[in-house]
Amino acid sequence: MQLSNPSLLQTGIFINNQWLPAANGHTFRVENPANGSLVAEVANAGEPETLQAIEAAEQAFASWSTRPAKERSNMLRQWFNLIIANTNDLALLMTTEQGKPLSESKGEVVYGASFIEWFAEEARRVYGDVVPSPDPHKRIITLKQPIGVVAAITPWNFPIAMITRKIGPALAAGCTVVVKPASLTPLCALALAELASSAGLPPGVLNVLPTTQSASVGKILTTHPMVSKVSFTGSTQTGKILMEQAASTIKKISLELGGNAPLLVMNDADIQKAVAGAIASKYRNAGQTCVCVNRIYVQSDIYHRFMDAYTPAVQALKVGEGTRSDVQIGPLINADAVKKVQKLLSDATDKGAVITTGGRLDPQGGLFFQPTIIENCNSSMQLSQEEIFGPVSAIYRFTTDDEAVALANNTIFGLAAYFFSENISRCLHLAERLQYGMVGINEGLISYTEAPFGGIKQSGFGREGSKYGIDDYVFVKYLCIGGL
Ligand code: ADP
Repeated sequence: MQLSNPSLLQTGIFINNQWLPAANGHTFRVENPANGSLVAEVANAGEPETLQAIEAAEQAFASWSTRPAKERSNMLRQWFNLIIANTNDLALLMTTEQGKPLSESKGEVVYGASFIEWFAEEARRVYGDVVPSPDPHKRIITLKQPIGVVAAITPWNFPIAMITRKIGPALAAGCTVVVKPASLTPLCALALAELASSAGLPPGVLNVLPTTQSASVGKILTTHPMVSKVSFTGSTQTGKILMEQAASTIKKISLELGGNAPLLVMNDADIQKAVAGAIASKYRNAGQTCVCVNRIYVQSDIYHRFMDAYTPAVQALKVGEGTRSDVQIGPLINADAVKKVQKLLSDATDKGAVITTGGRLDPQGGLFFQPTIIENCNSSMQLSQEEIFGPVSAIYRFTTDDEAVALANNTIFGLAAYFFSENISRCLHLAERLQYGMVGINEGLISYTEAPFGGIKQSGFGREGSKYGIDDYVFVKYLCIGGL
């Protein structure tokens, strides 16, 4: 990996704007999922570093939170500029530790940076209210104030965007942050920290703990009395543990958890749009996103028309190392991810599903999995209830709109849903009946900084991005002025 800015490859723990080794000298390996090679040995943070990071953030909070918003805004803007200026290096770092194709990595750097830009702007618009008082001798005013030290725990599938979408609003609001990135992809987080320090962020405002000791570090972050807020993106299973731990000190929390996105192809859909939307949503990041389509429901009377167009489009997807420019699907993240996909496919075929495209490891070996289509799926199969997190299209049929809505809502999750129809009244009725936080209508890509991202049901709560994103990092203080 040849970076034009070698200072972006950092391997220390980032506390108080300093790069530190672990006190006990421990490190861990970061590997390239495309070929298993060692990318870097990274310091492995444990309990002492976690406590040190929390204390640094607590100390920095007093001055960071009371700076004029315009100053925080200017620093965030400078950080945004540096991220954009280093897009190519950051993208290469991302593809090397995470595996996604370079074009997707570049897209994520720009998307990730957009949260820093957006919240640099929003920093100056954290307004309170002056409320008409029922008592002529009193006045009622509200302020929004930063909540305090924030712990952010993030996953490996978007090693930059899942971090910036939390720390952008946190820093804008005046909070300070301790980030624990996924152990599979710490290098992007560390590169972001290096750029934050170059942008002039004061010591202690942002701290990053690379570690393989997620459970013990997570326990401290979610129970320490100096941490006021926990923001987590990851599995529902881990989210439940963190929520329970955070209850011990009643921390404010936001959870962006698993999804099980349905995509409905109605019989009046524009088939080309539906194919393009399904491919875009399903195969991005080799199917490893929480808003990836997990279940494709096709109305019976257009089933063959849709599949005749969809199948060749899936078969045309090219699998390989993300640094090759012709590749659309990189490797899966690790051997466990491959095993999970294989287990879900064999459970489904045991119950009557039929693999019509792909279905196995790619001939080039390693962690590369073929783009796959499996038809004749039904609700008894595990892949209808769990996130597949791989390049597999599971196809189901339905006959009526009521049936489609019931099937789509038949899950504990409620993150994203998609459908395709050219009838406006049908579109609005479907959109209103789908129990999801986000709905893509004739569209497979829905994530924008300007729009609120988040789920309902066991997909979590809180909204990231948009004008709502900052609400998770402030509390409303009410002032009652009497004796007037
Ligand atoms: P994924 O399927 O994306 O790996 P996880 O929920 O396992 O989902 O991981 C998301 C993030 O949560 C990662 O940073 C991981 O290290 C962290 N994590 C996993 N288990 C725990 C835990 N018990 N406490 C704190 N963080 C955890």
